Amino acid sequence: MTSLSGAQANLRNLFPRIRASETAYLDSAATTHKPESVITAMQRAAVEGYAPVHRGLYAEAESASSAYEAVREQCGNLLRFKPQEIVFTRSATESINAVAQSFLTPQLNPGDWVWVSELEHHANYLPWQRACQASGAELRVLKINYETGAASAEQIEELADSRTRMLAITGQSNVVGVMPQLEPLIQVAHAVGAAVLVDAAQCLTHQASELARLDADFIVFSGHKVFGPTGIGVLAARYHHLEQMEPWLVGGGMVDWVGEGAAKSEWSDIPARFEAGSPNYIGVIGLGAALDFVQKLPEREVAEHLLRIGSYAHHTLSQLPNIRMLTPASAAATGVISFIHERIHPHDLGQVCADHAVAVRAGHHCAQPLMASLDIPACLRASCSIYTSRADINRLMQALEHAERLFL
Ligand code: PMP
Repeated sequence: MTSLSGAQANLRNLFPRIRASETAYLDSAATTHKPESVITAMQRAAVEGYAPVHRGLYAEAESASSAYEAVREQCGNLLRFKPQEIVFTRSATESINAVAQSFLTPQLNPGDWVWVSELEHHANYLPWQRACQASGAELRVLKINYETGAASAEQIEELADSRTRMLAITGQSNVVGVMPQLEPLIQVAHAVGAAVLVDAAQCLTHQASELARLDADFIVFSGHKVFGPTGIGVLAARYHHLEQMEPWLVGGGMVDWVGEGAAKSEWSDIPARFEAGSPNYIGVIGLGAALDFVQKLPEREVAEHLLRIGSYAHHTLSQLPNIRMLTPASAAATGVISFIHERIHPHDLGQVCADHAVAVRAGHHCAQPLMASLDIPACLRASCSIYTSRADINRLMQALEHAERLFL
């Protein structure tokens, strides 16, 4: 088992790009770097193991199909869903859109309520907004207490209204790191017969066991934020919901019988019916290797590293003059640290950081509703992962101090 304790430098060494680059990479909430094991697994899949999935009877095709299905099982085991309840998509974004279009929209009526939180990434806001626009339902927004992660008693009472059809909520904000308390919200939503989707894009790496314990109807995430490749996402969905859903894409590999002319076709079994087109074999194998990597990391040590590095970043940043922290100290352990400078625009700060080879993100982070509730147009985000070092944070501090000298 890879150990983080006393061996953080070794862990950094597992990431070829982090090892070789001069850049202080503080943008892991956007996408994570890949360890050697993931790169090797993808390379093997592209060379020795390469063959079409579910489309050939020859040996290579059979073993590619088994390897692909083994990752489905791995995802199911990770989140405590059955293998048939795992659908491979392109991304968390596609997974959420699929649920909004194929599950929710057909059952939504004027006057129904769909809930999201104010913390949502656009990927977990716009699909529901569109579903509401199409049906005359109302999109309602839960406020989350930054310190406790709880919703207010009044809003929980409203959530318990029989008009509530769906709650779609993040496991962790990609901007302020806050982690809503999901369990009580799920209980309330279920008590009124509503379904719950949890957007785990930001928290899968360090919250997999907590997510598995939740009684969520849908859990979604993306490979590229858990040390895997881009272009692969997961939709974990309860079987009885999948039975209700029409495929959102149609084409090869998802149909048993094609009806003549406009006659109805017969779809393949679940989950194949939701994976039209040639499967993303290399992406799925890369995802499997990434999840292997994550599962071999001792959860407690990952949590301790993120707590140490996140608290260090939070503490040192808050010592700087003119800085207003947006991530509360209580969420520093997520490693997602956002802030604004009272007198320098985030884009100017981002540019100075770039000039110092410090990779941070400036902007609204695809979370405009959150920016509106914070009453700011944009902010700067430094986001850490298991390979982030104190030296990376110190480089950020130097860049910010230089910005102060330049602009003030
Ligand atoms: N949800 C959250 C919380 C995110 O941070 C992101 C990506 N920034 C997404 C969803 C969407 O992920 P993807 O772009 O991989 O579909």
